[in-house]
Amino acid sequence: MRVDELIANRRRPLFSVELWPPRSAASEERLKGALDELSHYALDFASITYGAGGSTREFTHELVVHLHRNFGLVPVAHLVTAAHSRADLEHILARYAAEGIENVLALRGDPPLDSAAELAAGDLKYAIDLARLASGSYGMCVGVAAHPEGHPEATSFETDMDFLAAKLEVADFAISQFFYTADQFFRLRDALDKRGVAKPLIPGIMAPTSLSTLRRMAELSGTTIPDGTVARLSRYEGDPAGFIAEGTQIAIELASQVLEAGAVGIHVYTMNQAKTTIAIYEALYGNSWTGVAST
Ligand code: FAD
Repeated sequence: MRVDELIANRRRPLFSVELWPPRSAASEERLKGALDELSHYALDFASITYGAGGSTREFTHELVVHLHRNFGLVPVAHLVTAAHSRADLEHILARYAAEGIENVLALRGDPPLDSAAELAAGDLKYAIDLARLASGSYGMCVGVAAHPEGHPEATSFETDMDFLAAKLEVADFAISQFFYTADQFFRLRDALDKRGVAKPLIPGIMAPTSLSTLRRMAELSGTTIPDGTVARLSRYEGDPAGFIAEGTQIAIELASQVLEAGAVGIHVYTMNQAKTTIAIYEALYGNSWTGVAST
């Protein structure tokens, strides 16, 4: 099933998740447990991250194919241009196509959070080039990344929005980076509306798990964390359970605001944590979805 079809045919706002491929036996067990718990919920698709650096590339392929073959969950395979030759990318896309994988998230790629090393440029420079390849040569449904405050390397917000609008002429949908005020998402949506972009934009929602991780991720992605959010979370430093409960509540509030404003769904950055994801799902959908119908 293609994500653009899922969006077009939705009977309620979509609920999708991002998963990381496991890197060790222990993380594989954790992911299995999370998938078991999540299997009780009506997830619309799962996107699987891709380590541009190399060591975990094959794990992404394995998890994507596993979800597709054995789990009945629509996978979206992340793929990056950085550090790849065109032939590498063609090989990866051809393998996915042969497995019947229909959805790819076309990205440029970033080094891992714990690495200071730069990524080498690939043969294809920008995500739009990969979107063209995946869509044009492999007929895939292609998603791309959108950055609510503009990509940190962009010369300005407006320039980045111009590039994003161009990307969405090729791609079928976008998923936003996480954000911590709904206004950041609305500004992104307004910028695309102003440019006449009608492709779906799915807001990315992430419940913070610790202040240090949140700060590091926010710095790398150029996301502003409002003082009010930091103040709410700071009360629970030294109380991990309290912190996660408050972080989950913040995520639920953001998700409710964007859904009430007509977002097509939400994409939860799960960090492979089922409990937080389920808490968000149940708060929004309960047993029967009674929220505002999306447009
Ligand atoms: P691009 O769209 O290529 O943009 C990169 C920069 O180039 C921007 O500053 C843009 O303004 C500029 N630009 C674009 N087109 C042009 C042009 N024609 N001329 C000049 N400048 C241009 N990273 C990973 O490594 N693995 C993952 O699995 C992963 N998953 C992600 C999922 C989501 C939903 C998001 C939002 C991000 C993800 N990332 C991932 C991070 C992503 O790779 C980084 O944000 C990266 O720095 C930019 O990727 P992009 O696809 O937006 O790049």
